[in-house]
Amino acid sequence: MVIQDFGISFIELFLDPRKRIYLGYLLCAFAIALFWLKFFKKLSIAQAFSKIFDKKVFFSTSSKSDLKVYFINRMFTFFISPLLLTQIIVATFLFNQLLKIEWLSPASGYAVSKSFVVITYTSTVFLLDDFTKYIVHRWMHKFPILWALHKVHHTAEQLTPITIFRTHPLEGIVFSLRSAFTQGLAISFFFYFFGSSVSLVTVLGANVLVFAFNVCGSNLRHSHIGIQYWSWLEYILISPAQHQLHHSIAEEHYDKNFGATLAVWDWVFGSLHHSIDTDSLVLGVKTEDVNDHQSIYSLYILPIVDMGEAMKEFLWTIVNFRLKITQKVKRRDNA
Ligand SMILES: [Zn+2]
Ligand SMILES: [Zn+2]
Repeated sequence: MVIQDFGISFIELFLDPRKRIYLGYLLCAFAIALFWLKFFKKLSIAQAFSKIFDKKVFFSTSSKSDLKVYFINRMFTFFISPLLLTQIIVATFLFNQLLKIEWLSPASGYAVSKSFVVITYTSTVFLLDDFTKYIVHRWMHKFPILWALHKVHHTAEQLTPITIFRTHPLEGIVFSLRSAFTQGLAISFFFYFFGSSVSLVTVLGANVLVFAFNVCGSNLRHSHIGIQYWSWLEYILISPAQHQLHHSIAEEHYDKNFGATLAVWDWVFGSLHHSIDTDSLVLGVKTEDVNDHQSIYSLYILPIVDMGEAMKEFLWTIVNFRLKITQKVKRRDNA
């Protein structure tokens, strides 16, 4: 039974419309790519097909590593995810905390219509989820301890829809906790204020806004098809080419376009970069010490070694800071 479940866990993501990699979304991405290449890049259908299914991309060492990581991480998720904090635990905890606040009244929101509650809840969950993804992604680049993990995603030298799974398992845990916290926060507050009228607007079980994003080619963000949006739209939504630029090795593209769906966060917090023609982009990370980014050692062990180094440096900075303060106090006392 466990072996059967284990086998299913490898393919279930392709059959679940709540997941980015659902086959239906991949087909939509294919149709959009074909449309783009035919009508905007003026390629023939045959040329467009060979561009989309470019062997150099799909059979590259980098893409093979993506698959390797996908299978290993699925195994990891299968055994570890039952142990992780879930949104229900977070929601129950927060809900109980809200009940303890005497000046807050749960009945205050009951007068509003059910459709208002459902639409507001659906949008809040989507916005909160997208915003926290932006923040955590930004931290992943900012703090050396987290960058040690996130670098695994950035060592991809070719992008395919599977690259989204090219993450270190510890980064996976960080993002699961983010998700549990975000969902739990939204559920607890809405249930507290609006009771049982809270529900999501869904299509095939997925939040309607997430569904729309995925139908509109979310999988092309990790691909070699550099679809660019109109300049004004790239302030609102991250185009495939904008995320591809996030993977660029060029220094002028560092720390740009952290957004998952919305570009608004990048715009507001100053990390937005409009897309450029992606044919000129080189993807990956620049490091002198490791030439092979595609080995199991580089993908799984080295991030933990780097994380340990970053932690040591961080602790050393704290110790030095405390020493400086103590010396200052001593000097003041002696004066
Ligand atoms: Zn990143
Ligand atoms: Zn990416």
